Amino acid sequence: MLLAIKIEEKAHGMEITTRCIHCKKKDIHTITHDQWFEWQIQGKRIQEVFPEWTPEQRDHLLNGTHPECWNEMFATTEEEE
Ligand SMILES: [Zn+2]
Repeated sequence: MLLAIKIEEKAHGMEITTRCIHCKKKDIHTITHDQWFEWQIQGKRIQEVFPEWTPEQRDHLLNGTHPECWNEMFATTEEEE
């Protein structure tokens, strides 16, 4: 599921612009061409390409949504009786 993600190739690497579905804030993630190649061309898992990132950072790159925004969304979508 891609949510309005924009990818641009730059001299220093790939810039991935994501937008949080909750707060609508945009973030730019810069990764190297090598990381892009391994991830998108070779099809490696994101954990293998970015082992030093936290799970939250990887989720943020994949879906653009901030960890704190996920929490808020889950908090507000709980059923009320
Ligand atoms: Zn957010």
